[in-house]
Amino acid sequence: MSPDPKQQAELESRIRAYVGVDVGEPWVAPDAVNEAMIRHWCVVMGDENPVYRDPVAAEKSVHGGIVAPPAMLLTWVMPPYIPPWSLPGAENEPAPNQEVELHRLMSSHGYTGVVGTNCEDEYHRYLRPGDRITATKVIEAISEEKPTPLGVGYFIDVRYVFRDQHGAVVGTELFRVLKYRPAQPAQAVASAAAAPAKPRRLRPPRGHDNAWWWEGIERGELLIQKCSACGALRHPPRPMCGRCQSIEWETVASGGRGTLHSYTVLHHPQVPGYDYPLVVALVDLEEGTRLVANLVGCKPDEIRIGMPVACRIESVDEELKLPVFRPTRVGG
Ligand code: ZN
Repeated sequence: MSPDPKQQAELESRIRAYVGVDVGEPWVAPDAVNEAMIRHWCVVMGDENPVYRDPVAAEKSVHGGIVAPPAMLLTWVMPPYIPPWSLPGAENEPAPNQEVELHRLMSSHGYTGVVGTNCEDEYHRYLRPGDRITATKVIEAISEEKPTPLGVGYFIDVRYVFRDQHGAVVGTELFRVLKYRPAQPAQAVASAAAAPAKPRRLRPPRGHDNAWWWEGIERGELLIQKCSACGALRHPPRPMCGRCQSIEWETVASGGRGTLHSYTVLHHPQVPGYDYPLVVALVDLEEGTRLVANLVGCKPDEIRIGMPVACRIESVDEELKLPVFRPTRVGG
């Protein structure tokens, strides 16, 4: 549905007032740059560069001692994932900062979708254990309204500036998001005279290497890729066998039975088009591969790792089918 031009003009003038605005208080790193956090980050990222972890090798390097990986910059000031005001007995939620205000304003005008699109870092010097980092954040730019495959929207650029204990800039990060009005299918909009069309789920990426798998789903078949040379099964679809490097492959149809290997329950952020709480399951198929899909038909507190599940291919909207798992009784 096209927005009312008057409301749109009002939104335009209100969002422009946010350009150049500093967001909230500076973020002060709770800990000085330290070797423990550097080590954990390197383990998670698989970075084995000795200048980050080996004091002897670092001493002999051009750095003369341990330094932090530059890409950790944001990590030092990152606020906790669970904000302190959401814990039991905590003080009330603080007033929203200007960035939250801007997002809420745009959401209230139908721009409910948000997706990160760009991240550009600049590093001015290596950080060393003992450095104390503070970051400030400014809303640097808001684009004109642009059409995108997700829907029309605005690109919002936020710039972080990181400073050390002497006030010197050690790096910056530009983070761009698209705040968009989720695209609606033309027919659905036309027929939605009474009720607004339900937003659709995000489309799964489909390309040269996995289109065949989605075509199988559309026919109601859950297919698994099988190496024609060594017989190894693999999922998600990819061009080469990880075991023998053959690029010859065929498919086998899965019976759709499996067991729950792991799962996560999503509560936030709520993306339009999905029902929450949304259970994302990692399923071990009987045939021997794993698959990520939604688990439905049971409450989150009834879910148990290892429980038997079965797949059905279901239409989630007028053009998208997805494999969906449900718990099954043993022997059922
Ligand atoms: Zn193979």
